[in-house]
Amino acid sequence: MNEVKSVSRGASWFWVTFKGITRYKHLEVLLKNEKLSQDQLQILQWQKLTALLTHAYQNVPYYQRVFEQLGATPRDIRTKEDFAQLPILTRQDVRDNLELLYARNVPESKLVIKSTSGSSGNPLDFYYSHADRERAEAGGLRNFTWAGLSPSDKKALIWIGPIRSPIKKFFTHTILLDCFDLTESRMEEWLEELKRFKPRFVYGYTSAVAHFAQFVEGKHERLDSISAVFVSAEKLYREQRILIEKVFDCKVYDHYGSVEVPTIASECEKGSMHILNDLVYVEFLPWAPSDKLFGLEQDRIIVTSLDSYAMPFIRYANGDLGMPSTAACSCGRPFPTMSMGVSRTFHSFLMPDGQLVNGIYFQKLFLGLPGVTDFRVHQKSPEMITVYVVPETGVLLDTEQFLKGVINTIKQQWPSVSVDIEFLSELPPIKSGKRDFVISDVVRSMN
Ligand SMILES: [Zn+2]
Repeated sequence: MNEVKSVSRGASWFWVTFKGITRYKHLEVLLKNEKLSQDQLQILQWQKLTALLTHAYQNVPYYQRVFEQLGATPRDIRTKEDFAQLPILTRQDVRDNLELLYARNVPESKLVIKSTSGSSGNPLDFYYSHADRERAEAGGLRNFTWAGLSPSDKKALIWIGPIRSPIKKFFTHTILLDCFDLTESRMEEWLEELKRFKPRFVYGYTSAVAHFAQFVEGKHERLDSISAVFVSAEKLYREQRILIEKVFDCKVYDHYGSVEVPTIASECEKGSMHILNDLVYVEFLPWAPSDKLFGLEQDRIIVTSLDSYAMPFIRYANGDLGMPSTAACSCGRPFPTMSMGVSRTFHSFLMPDGQLVNGIYFQKLFLGLPGVTDFRVHQKSPEMITVYVVPETGVLLDTEQFLKGVINTIKQQWPSVSVDIEFLSELPPIKSGKRDFVISDVVRSMN
C-alpha cells in the first residue's frame, strides 16, 4: 500500500496531477478488496451491480427501454435470477444502438469514442470516459502486483499504438514496441531497445510476444532485467507459454480482457485464472443442445463491467468462451477461478452445409505440423479456405505431404470446399495487429 502511495506522490506526481490520473487511488481500494472474505466480496459485487443498474435506468435511454419492456425497475432486481432476466447485449446490439447506449449525465465533451478492430475487419465502436478508463487501469496495475511488481516499475508494451512521447516515456516508465510490424528488422530494433531500457516486465499481445520470444531464442540473446511477462487479448497456448517462459526465464501471467471490458480475469502467481469480481460480474451460459457447433463444449461468457458508467455493458456477450472452476487457489485471494475457452467465437467458420465450426478445429489440424514455422487459416468464402504457411527451409517436400493429409481430412468432411496452400517467407500483418491462426471473412460475429 505504501508503495502505491509513494508512486502517486513520488517522482510521477506531476504527471499524475497534470493528467488527472486517479488510478493509484483506485488501486489502493482494489488492493484492500483482495483482503475481503468471499462473502464480503460477493456483497461488494452486488452493491456495485445494483448501483450500475440504477445509473443505467436513470441515465441511459437503451436501458430505460429495457426496463420498460420488462415492466420492472432496478429495485425489482434482487437476486441473480432476477438479473438473468435482463436481455443479453450482443455486439450487434451495440452497433445498432450506439447512440442510445451512452449515459446522458456524462457531458458529451467527456465522452471518448473507441473502435475495437476485430481480427476479421469487423469493428465495434463504443464510448468511454476518462474516469472509467482510470478505474480500468487500476485493475491492470493490480495484476502487476500479483507478480511482485510495483506500478512504478519499468515496463515494455508489445502493443499497437501511437509512438509515445519521450516525456510520457519518462513519467510512465514505459516503452511501446509497436507490434503492427513484426518483421525481423523491427524485432532487431526492439531487442536493442529492451537491452538499453532494461524493463522489469513485458506486457503484450500473446501471439506477438510469443513471436518475439522465438526471435530472441534464435538470436541466443538473454534479457535478464525481465522478471515477468503478461500476455493478453488472445488465447495463450501451452506451447507459447513454454517458449516465452524459457526465453525470458520467468513466469508468464495470462490476462483476460477486451478493449470494451479491459480486466475480466487474471492469472495469479500460483497459476490460477481468477475472475475479478470487484470489477466484473461474469455469467457462464451453456449453449443450447440445438447449437451443433464443433469445439463449443465451453460456455458462452456474459460479462457486466461494474465500472463502465459512460456506456454500461450489462450482460454483454463478448464472443468469448470459458468455464467456471470450483478449484480453490492457494494464493488466498477471494476471487473465484475459471478456465479460458479454446478460441474466440468470432473465429468460427460457416461451412457450405450450414455448419458453424469453431476455428480451433482448423487450428488443431495445422498446429505443430513438422516443417511449419508459422501459419494462418483464412476462410474467404464458405467454399474457399486459404492456408498461408511459413515453412522451415529444407523440409518443404515432407511438409507438403503433411499438408496434403490435412487437406484430405477437411475435404472428407466438406467435399465442396477448396483448400489452397500458399507458401510465404513471412505472414502479412492483419489489421488488428494480432497474429491470429484462424480468420473467417464469412462469420464476422456470432452474435
Ligand atoms: Zn490464486
